Amino acid sequence: MTGWANILQIKEKIAERSAEEVTASYLERIKKSRINAYTTVWEGAIDKAREIDEQGHNGPLAGIPIAIKDNISTKGISTTCSSKILQGYVPPYDAHIIERLKDAGAIILGKTNMDEFAMGTSTESSCYGPTLNPWDMERVPGGSSGGSAAVVAAGEAPISVGSDTGGSVRCPAAFCGVVGLKPTYGTISRYGLISYANSLEQIGPLATCVSDIATLMDVIGGHDARDSTSIKTETVYKDALADDVSGLKIGVPAEYFGAGIDPAVENSVWDAIQLFEEMGASWEQVSLPHTSYALAAYYIIAMSEASSNLARFDGTRYGYRNEGENWHVMASRTRAEGFGAEVKRRILLGTYALSAGYHDKYYLKALKVRTLVKQDFDLAFKEFDCLITPTMPTPAFKLGEKVEDPLALYLADVNTVPINLAGVPSISLPCGFTDGLPIGLQIIGKHFDEATILKAAYSFEQNTEHHTRRPAEVA
Ligand code: GLN
Repeated sequence: MTGWANILQIKEKIAERSAEEVTASYLERIKKSRINAYTTVWEGAIDKAREIDEQGHNGPLAGIPIAIKDNISTKGISTTCSSKILQGYVPPYDAHIIERLKDAGAIILGKTNMDEFAMGTSTESSCYGPTLNPWDMERVPGGSSGGSAAVVAAGEAPISVGSDTGGSVRCPAAFCGVVGLKPTYGTISRYGLISYANSLEQIGPLATCVSDIATLMDVIGGHDARDSTSIKTETVYKDALADDVSGLKIGVPAEYFGAGIDPAVENSVWDAIQLFEEMGASWEQVSLPHTSYALAAYYIIAMSEASSNLARFDGTRYGYRNEGENWHVMASRTRAEGFGAEVKRRILLGTYALSAGYHDKYYLKALKVRTLVKQDFDLAFKEFDCLITPTMPTPAFKLGEKVEDPLALYLADVNTVPINLAGVPSISLPCGFTDGLPIGLQIIGKHFDEATILKAAYSFEQNTEHHTRRPAEVA
């Protein structure tokens, strides 16, 4: 069998053959891969699949292979955040979502490549080297969950999970032509997710279709007392899947179609909006006036939180260590050698923004802007059920094109970071192609109203073919 299949199709295959055979076929594909999307392939996968076969196929994901971003803790499986500083680290415990996935019968194929500590938009800052975009191997897959999106696009895993602090699930989903959801803040437990900027980030699923996203959400969503921001919800995500957008009120924020947008991206998104109208929805332009301040505020907040979160990596307890005559020498050698350039830049800038004398000027001001950005969304959602924008202003860019220019990379996040500042949910799904490269449509919803955006995305998918295209380069 080829790697591209949805959960239902794989279930049929498992019933016909076995979970062991299905897992083996994915491992075979991964072995031949040229896209450098896995950081670790789990050697226990086949045994696990055999165990699931022996137990009978119980559980909503029984025997379904899955790939996990390398910043999510997996007991007994290397977890490095694609950083030299965590080389050799094998967590002694599972993240909450890993417990859930195991209980549901899923089989972990391995860990996926990412920007170091999830800081990036291209998966080029990984210590393992960049992941290549399956649609064009001279281009980036997006980031930071580039590996998680690329494995799904290349048929090296049917489903995966990533994390999204400022776009890291949606950006690579858009660049690789797959579906990715950033749920409402608090929906999925972050227990066991290695923090970058914890007030912004959520774990999110990636898949080839909206229905698989809902299935995954039903498994990994829900309350967990070990994450103090985790919220009790009763949502059954699968219930949202209906091909029906009649009466849906869509807002189209002008600010998300600003300078620098690729005309092909703009056209595809407008075609999508038109289609929604034909399907029974209505749309109107809306303004989110504080959007232009969101990017600066995001980077100040994210870097400030990162500078604090990354203080724990000092060589004392885990990962890479270079010895020295005392703790200070050991820790500074370890950190100087263990962290890459982008991570160091962010620790320095974040420390600066939080330091006495600058705290109010930068960090506190950024928090105030965050409130204004959130209010923009609150106001818009009084009138509209969801908002539609391009996920990324351009299709995937070339490897190396922006890597020397951090500001150009940060700018690529304009349409994704406001969503994390506000904490609202947002999904990216394929809505077209330009020069053979996928384009992503972003649908943004109200807090805890994943149901509406899943329904809109599902309806769009039922009436279009974009999500069925596969990259020829990796066929
Ligand atoms: N590109 C953004 C950043 O570098 C978002 C990354 C993410 O969502 N983890 O912060």
